Amino acid sequence: MSAELEDIHEECGIFGVWGHPDAARLTYFGLHALQHRGQEGAGIVSNDDGHLLGHRGKGLLTQVFSDEREIQRLKGSHAIGHVRYATAGSGGSDNIQPFIFRFHDGDMALCHNGNLTNCISLRRKLEDEGAIFHSNSDTEVLMHLIRRSSKPTFMDKLKEALNTVHGGFAYLIMTEHAMIGALDPNGFRPLSLGKMTNGAYVLASETCALDTVGAELVRDIRPGEIVVVDDSGYHIDRYTDQTQLAICSMEFIYFARPDSNIYGVNVHSARKRMGARLAQESPVDADMVIAVPNSSLSAASGYSEEAGLPNEMGLIKNQYVARTFIQPTQELREQGVRMKLSAVRGVVKGKRVVVIDDSIVRGTTSKRIVQMLKEAGAAEVHMRISSPPLKYPCFYGIDISTTKELIAAEKSVDEIRDYIGADSLAFLSLDGLVESIGLGADAPYGGLCVAYFNGDYPTALDDYEADFLKSLAPEDRVRLPEFALYKSKYEGNEYQALPQA
Ligand code: SF4
Repeated sequence: MSAELEDIHEECGIFGVWGHPDAARLTYFGLHALQHRGQEGAGIVSNDDGHLLGHRGKGLLTQVFSDEREIQRLKGSHAIGHVRYATAGSGGSDNIQPFIFRFHDGDMALCHNGNLTNCISLRRKLEDEGAIFHSNSDTEVLMHLIRRSSKPTFMDKLKEALNTVHGGFAYLIMTEHAMIGALDPNGFRPLSLGKMTNGAYVLASETCALDTVGAELVRDIRPGEIVVVDDSGYHIDRYTDQTQLAICSMEFIYFARPDSNIYGVNVHSARKRMGARLAQESPVDADMVIAVPNSSLSAASGYSEEAGLPNEMGLIKNQYVARTFIQPTQELREQGVRMKLSAVRGVVKGKRVVVIDDSIVRGTTSKRIVQMLKEAGAAEVHMRISSPPLKYPCFYGIDISTTKELIAAEKSVDEIRDYIGADSLAFLSLDGLVESIGLGADAPYGGLCVAYFNGDYPTALDDYEADFLKSLAPEDRVRLPEFALYKSKYEGNEYQALPQA
């Protein structure tokens, strides 16, 4: 939890194994380690000597596979699986992956983590040409493109299809003879290859899943790469050289598990450095540091060490509460905070506390947390956020797609402080974030996507662009300080004149 207690969500985790006698069971355990990336649906497809068998359903993995016989039925030594978060309107079981496609020349399964920015137009074009879709997920689009390609070999068809889709994607494909992973040209989402002691290869959204199944990391899959795993081992191919690393910084801030490593950077350590940097940038005279559990625990320990303040448990999380994001109204959402978190009166009473959270999304939860701590007797509540203000929507696989959902798009830091009722409020700087993560890649922002914070989208927004630009009222544009991409992209037209703060 946090990202203001789960108001933003990752949209999926993927896992696959090639060459293990109990592949479906192993995939189950791999997906279990990735459950934080999606809790609304899950599925596994196994490959039994070229025949693909699948089971999918709504809910947590443990609910979908509540009967041991479901795993036993998925025979074969290869399998791929998926856990998903359902965005509004797409929660039906038709959208649960992996999808199985049965063709005259063999079966294929496919699952996907991310979001295609040109999906709407591609799908419209494909439908006009006679394609029939069984879901409203953008995952199916890739398979239609593969099958409609006139290139001679499967790999050529796949490469052509991967060059046609835009946006953020990590695909996992299983054919009769191979498991294939592919990453978008910016590598927005992580994807890692591991090897087990029996020689089986594993592909997973995060390295924590490799650890769970006892696989050693072989390498991270890089932007524009295709990895093909078959009975002869693995080999890496490319479908494009037009790449530039821009991995989602929210993976480091909030989404990924602290025990995962992304491009060699441990997530817990990165969060700890963010907390330490925050303490340097925004110190406060206080008695203790407390974290909003769980994703801020690492940053709180960094802040506390750097500030020389005790790190106390001033907020505790109820482990068994239902997820509140399914509650539709603001009122219910606010109630939900109390179901999820409690202030520890005996710890915070009479104390000046620094509360560390990873982000502020809507602000309503932060307001509740401050209120809860004050009701528990805290003398002062100082909010410190271990990332910059979230001002812009994401189009690469996170479910915030309008600025209306983001309080920092509307209000200044001081106005947010006033709204949440904190005694002080500060955010980590963008430089502080980039340097704390420390990927150090030879790419803008050291190889990170920071579009959530500054609107500098690493790619064109395609189908989303017109609506996004229209959604920005002139007065909002005045307040929005950055827009590097749009400034250069729209030079010479009406958007050139975006006023600067
Ligand atoms: S816009 Fe934000 S959430 Fe989306 S990929 Fe970029 S940093 Fe991640």
